[in-house]
Amino acid sequence: MRKSLLLILKKIRLQEEDDAALAKQCAEQLAELWEMAGMDREAISALKAAADFEVQRWPKEELISLDAQPHHIHPHPAVVPLLAAPEWEGRLLWAGTETDQRDPGVMEGAIGSAARVIRELAK
Ligand SMILES: Cc1cc2nc3c(=O)[nH]c(=O)nc-3n(C[C@H](O)[C@H](O)[C@H](O)COP(=O)(O)OP(=O)(O)OC[C@H]3O[C@@H](n4cnc5c(N)ncnc54)[C@H](O)[C@@H]3O)c2cc1C
Repeated sequence: MRKSLLLILKKIRLQEEDDAALAKQCAEQLAELWEMAGMDREAISALKAAADFEVQRWPKEELISLDAQPHHIHPHPAVVPLLAAPEWEGRLLWAGTETDQRDPGVMEGAIGSAARVIRELAK
């Protein structure tokens, strides 16, 4: 699944200026992922047929980016084991993407770190 996801991500033209075209590419990519995950066909059809969209271009947001047309992606944080280490003899646990030991800095890390803390709490 992870390998397939990376292959699909390559298809999107990141410099696409046409919002409608970009939204269509994103919807098609998401539909492919939903198909691979075996999701409900009706939901997939609705996604493909969707006409409403909103495109958020982070580089163009004044308070987010200093460069409206970046040509490379800054590296995400590296894995730091110490950030996931509990404190107060195991009573204080740290979640949040930067603490993740696999995908820090992205949504997967946010979810992964939450799952880790839930597992810790269940012990
Ligand atoms: C511009 C931008 C674009 C991004 N694009 C992508 C992307 O395309 N794909 C991807 O995977 N990731 C992307 N990311 C990264 C992704 O958004 C983060 O990795 C993810 O949101 C981190 O989730 P989190 O739950 O760890 O922290 P957050 O989402 O930052 O949540 C922390 C929450 O804690 C709250 N908080 C902080 N301090 C306190 C306090 N003292 N008391 C109470 N609440 C507090 C904050 O208000 C916030 O709601 C992007 C990030 C940015 C900024």
